[in-house]
Amino acid sequence: LAGYVGFHNLPNQVHRKSVKRGFQFTLMVVGESGLGKSTLVNTLFNSSLYPNKENKEPTHDTPKTVDIQTISADVEENGVKLKLTVIDTPGFGDFVNNEESWRPILENIEARYDAYLEQENRVNRKRIVDTRVHACLYFISPTGHSLKPLDIEFMRQLAARVNLIPVIAKSDTLTEDEIKAFKVRILEDITYNKIQIYQPPIHDNDDPETIQENKDIITRIPFAIVGSDKEVEVNGKKVRGRKYPWGVIEVDNEEHCDFVKLRQMLIRTHMEELKEYTNEVLYESYRMGKLTRGGY
Ligand code: GDP
Ligand code: MG
Repeated sequence: LAGYVGFHNLPNQVHRKSVKRGFQFTLMVVGESGLGKSTLVNTLFNSSLYPNKENKEPTHDTPKTVDIQTISADVEENGVKLKLTVIDTPGFGDFVNNEESWRPILENIEARYDAYLEQENRVNRKRIVDTRVHACLYFISPTGHSLKPLDIEFMRQLAARVNLIPVIAKSDTLTEDEIKAFKVRILEDITYNKIQIYQPPIHDNDDPETIQENKDIITRIPFAIVGSDKEVEVNGKKVRGRKYPWGVIEVDNEEHCDFVKLRQMLIRTHMEELKEYTNEVLYESYRMGKLTRGGY
């Protein structure tokens, strides 16, 4: 075993160290009020994050019209700790004049980049706190038509700064065929307007299983989701879902909606990837822009 130095254990070391430190992830939800943002967040993390609003973090001169809320929770699963922060942006779509209602949201994202940059520039960079937004769920109203001009404007403004993940809200209000056609039109609008949404990358050197998994995720975008924090009974079994006279739409059933795929991507398979892309591409581009504009 000449030349053996043991670096093959590095991934393990990194893994063990981060398990000890705990993981940290920041998710933003954006969309008209009433589209089910709070419900989905609770459904995603299997807990009621919302009743507790004590962790409200004052953001820099946020205009009163858009009350941006930050909620943090420590969740633990099999000894692995995750500090989860959700940034909720209620209110938009509620005003007579929605023009530029994306601005405070974009400012919030950029203020978090500034805070990170400021820490990087300090003499002591040991304890950098990362409050950057790693993913942004954009809720599309289930109209079945196409994107609204306001959606296009919002997505265009946010896309260069954050991993944008479009979702069709309350998809239980549409039929399967309507969802299919709606997805096509949304993607057409996104392409036509050159909006960069988040796509799980396909690496040729990944194992076939991972490649297939990523392709499955990609075909679901924009994710048609259903949120519910209530359980209903189906054949004597309790499931999370929404009850209709003709039956139950189950949140955790992949045949009923894309919730499982979305959660899988966010939590199980692509959390690190989303964080890496935020750091290496989105933040880097913001930082470079700032430097070349002579901000520092
Ligand atoms: P937010 O304003 O975007 O945070 O929306 P909420 O989460 O407060 O939900 C608004 C209303 O929509 C509530 O009455 C929810 O029960 C309901 N709701 C949430 N998610 C869904 C869904 O997936 N389908 C349907 N049909 N209703 C939903
Ligand atoms: Mg809400």
